[in-house]
Amino acid sequence: MKPLNVLSVTSEVFPIIKTGGLADVAGALPSALAQEGVTVVTMVPGYPAVLKSLERSEVLHQYPSFFGGAARLLSGRAGGLNLFVIDAPHLFERPGSPYLAPNGRDWPDNARRFAALGLAAADIGQGLTPGFIPDVIHAHDWQAGLVPVYLSLTGDPRPGTVITIHNIAFQGIFPADLLFELGLPTSVFTVDGVEYYGQIGFLKAGLQLADRITTVSPTYAKEIQTPEGGMGLDGLLRARSNIVSGILNGIDDKVWDPSTDAHLARPYDRNSLEARALNKRTLQERLGLKPDPDALLFGVVSRLSEQKGLDLVLAGLSRLLADGAQLALLGAGDKALEDSFQTARIVYPGQVGCFIGYDEKLAHQIQGGSDALLVPSRFEPCGLTQLCAMRYGSIPIVSRVGGLADTIIDANEMAIATSAATGFQFGPVNLGAALDAFDRAKNLWRDKDAWRRLQVNGMGADVSWHRPARQYASLYRSLRPS
Ligand code: ADP
Repeated sequence: MKPLNVLSVTSEVFPIIKTGGLADVAGALPSALAQEGVTVVTMVPGYPAVLKSLERSEVLHQYPSFFGGAARLLSGRAGGLNLFVIDAPHLFERPGSPYLAPNGRDWPDNARRFAALGLAAADIGQGLTPGFIPDVIHAHDWQAGLVPVYLSLTGDPRPGTVITIHNIAFQGIFPADLLFELGLPTSVFTVDGVEYYGQIGFLKAGLQLADRITTVSPTYAKEIQTPEGGMGLDGLLRARSNIVSGILNGIDDKVWDPSTDAHLARPYDRNSLEARALNKRTLQERLGLKPDPDALLFGVVSRLSEQKGLDLVLAGLSRLLADGAQLALLGAGDKALEDSFQTARIVYPGQVGCFIGYDEKLAHQIQGGSDALLVPSRFEPCGLTQLCAMRYGSIPIVSRVGGLADTIIDANEMAIATSAATGFQFGPVNLGAALDAFDRAKNLWRDKDAWRRLQVNGMGADVSWHRPARQYASLYRSLRPS
């Protein structure tokens, strides 16, 4: 196998800075790719959390003036990863979220902040760091969308480029008059370049100019080529469909392993599922739920946004909770949804428990203590929580969209009979269909043996990064045939 160097360009990476699944993917892929002969260096902005965790840091390059201030390119290690960090205090030395100001709005200079990420990555692609010359640059989401654009402005050497869409709802659209501030010539402000309905589209530009486009599940790869799923980019994606593919995400099987998970009251595996009882009880106690081992405990770990469909759970709450069932929710985001779940906790004391905020430990405890996990998304590029749920023996109840459709096998009669079933799917995404799925789960819950078989099937499924890493490695190699 020919060794290959890949620069992975991302705006967040687990375990250093995370707001969602992108960080999980960017954090887990490098070690899985190492087994495929691919060396990955991950390029991230120098947010305070990144600079704080950087070890063995070295200055590789100084930019006297970089998008409004001096900047340095650093290399180092953090969280088990090899990093390149763009240390530009005027852009990234800010507390909290990578994208949002404390008032909850996007930082007003996000275009410049992520253009800086893209330009520094392109410079590395051009040989700025002789110790690491990438064969391929892998750009993640709109924040890295300008990498192929900056590369297109220069001559050889030019690495191959891959862009991955983790969520097409986030496109990075900015006013056209920023063009010069971003160091872009008029020649790229065209329909074949960065221009997007009269504005500058970071994701659009990346999709237009990258050598390969991937997204995080085969079904989502099809959905984004339709007017309903493409959110304005479907035409472009159809035109380039020969280079579009879907590679399912995995999960980090060391971070998400119920047999070694230090966050759980009691670790377990598929031969000791009875140990889950203590985890369930601990979760019930932590969230103020009635400590009833027989109550069917539904879990949710999610951003709270329109996309995630949790308004359906609210709308169907009385039916969900009938027969003494319970709901344990961890989530943050949309204020109205946060308030509604807090209210539900008061309306259904002992039956609804929620924690509004971000809490890695509780996320593990919900996976290890709930009986079923709800993911009723309106659209879902891949979804990771249903994969964690499978690994932890919590039965996923999901809408039949995107990666949820690709990863969960519905417990219909045939799938139960053949020991293939791993969860419940419903569609279309509406209240009636969701309620049907909740009821089907409740019925199966009464048959403890059947429920356990579903748990064992899910826990035996391969949700690791092994297969996806092989697919990425072969995609990279297709760009650098030896
Ligand atoms: P998305 O990227 O759309 O938010 P994914 O399912 O792909 O959704 O990834 C979500 C990731 O974020 C999972 O690792 C999940 O455990 C985690 N997560 C989501 N919300 C929270 C929260 N409030 N606290 C802790 N982890 C969370």
